[in-house]
Amino acid sequence: MTCPLLTLRYSYMTAKPKKRPAPDAGPSLRFDFNAAAKRALKDHPELRGNMLFIHAGETKPDAHSDDLMMQGVDDDEIADVEKMVRDAKRLKTSFHLAVSREDHKKSLGVLVFHPDKHSIFGAKPSPADDAGTFDHETGHALISRTEGTLSENAADGFAAIRHFQRFDNARENLEYAGWKRAAVAMLLGKTSHLTTFTIDRIICDAEAAKFSSLKPAETKKIAEEYARKFTPSAKRLAKISHDFAPLKKLPPQQAAEKLAAITLKARADSDTFYLGARVLAGAFRKGGLRLDGKKIDLSGEEHAQLRMKLKMKIEKMPKNHPLKKIVVL
Ligand SMILES: [Zn+2]
Repeated sequence: MTCPLLTLRYSYMTAKPKKRPAPDAGPSLRFDFNAAAKRALKDHPELRGNMLFIHAGETKPDAHSDDLMMQGVDDDEIADVEKMVRDAKRLKTSFHLAVSREDHKKSLGVLVFHPDKHSIFGAKPSPADDAGTFDHETGHALISRTEGTLSENAADGFAAIRHFQRFDNARENLEYAGWKRAAVAMLLGKTSHLTTFTIDRIICDAEAAKFSSLKPAETKKIAEEYARKFTPSAKRLAKISHDFAPLKKLPPQQAAEKLAAITLKARADSDTFYLGARVLAGAFRKGGLRLDGKKIDLSGEEHAQLRMKLKMKIEKMPKNHPLKKIVVL
């Protein structure tokens, strides 16, 4: 099973790193893939001998094929890994795949990393987004008892907690991630990567929970707990898909206008209102927000009344509701 970071896809160009940093640039802020892989193995002993990390941007698709054969992986699954590396390069996305090995009870986890052109963990491509992508896929390898939308929530939950451990501006990056996961679910009409409820709870709890002091094993355990608690049931996911179906495949700006009508009609305690309000709040920000290069912007005067209506509806919600802590209107 592969688990790509689901995103709307457009063409891609890689920015070449500058040869020499400016004198005041300080230490390199580039995401160090090899160091991250080494750290994951150090932090999580259960991955040692059971995990292969591949940087698709720096490796030929068949670079690991002999090694995989030596480990007892059959030809078909080796072909799957090679295809995944080619897909990661072509689509600019990352994957995790578990392959079986002869004479091994445990499967081998293969993490194929590629930086995204359009970020998820933060509004712009950055080392923080690369780290978020890496952590998401590592989360899949670590929390392997889950599947479907629950598995994506576990992976994003793990990435979100790691984000608080790694970065000072985690909250801002994760607010964008929660926003984007909801917006993409609406526009693609797919709830497979709808992780907004889990990410939002982690943001809300961050101050009290002190995620930075967690040990690696606790991080993994708590990410799974968040996912199990906050992933919507299949019934709720079906209702979400149904309610946002009119937005499917619309250009983002047009979808946002339609979304305002759907959201304001929905009950304040419904998932539809929550997700609608979450996405609209981003669109109401000055200058709006970008989704995979396309702008979603309802910040103009002509939308001021909609914004006020949404604001009043949120103000009536219970004090501790996540929307009150995350949405600013
Ligand atoms: Zn995934």
